[in-house]
Amino acid sequence: MASYYDEHDCDPLKDGELPNHTLHLARLLLDTGIAAEWEMEFDSVFGGDRKVPPASKKVVSELPTRLITPTEAVLCKKCAICLANFDEEDEVKSLPCSHNFHTKCILPWLERVNSCPECRHELPTDDPTYEEYKRQKARVKQKEFELETLHGSMFG
Ligand SMILES: [Zn+2]
Ligand SMILES: [Zn+2]
Repeated sequence: MASYYDEHDCDPLKDGELPNHTLHLARLLLDTGIAAEWEMEFDSVFGGDRKVPPASKKVVSELPTRLITPTEAVLCKKCAICLANFDEEDEVKSLPCSHNFHTKCILPWLERVNSCPECRHELPTDDPTYEEYKRQKARVKQKEFELETLHGSMFG
C-alpha cells in the first residue's frame, strides 16, 4: 500500500516543521468557499497545545525596557513567569498588552511562544504561514459576522 507521502508527493516532515502545502490547501479551500474545513485543517496544525511559532525577533527587540519604580515595588507586583515580586530597579520589558515581565524571564519565553504569559495577547511572528493563518481566521470571523448581520436584517 502506498503511504500518505507517496500519494501526496511530498517528503515526511521533521518535528516542528510546517508543511508548505498547508498554505496551498488553505487558499484552495477558501477559493471554493469551504472556510470551515479550512479552519479545521489549520487548527489541526496550530490549534490546541500544538507548537505556535515564537514572537518576531524584530518585535521582541523593539519592546520597551524600563526599571521598576519604587511605587510598583511597594505594590508587590509579580512577574508571572518566575512568580517573584518585582524589586525596585528590576529591569522589565512591557508587552503591547501593558503587562510587564523581567527582561531575563520574558526573552526566553518569547523565543518559544508568541503570546503574553498573563493574558495570551499575541505578538506578531516571523512565520508567514502562521501570520496568514491569523489573517484568514480573522477574515472567516468577519464573514461569519457579516452573514449573521445579513441574516438578521433579512429575517430579524
Ligand atoms: Zn521574572
Ligand atoms: Zn498581557
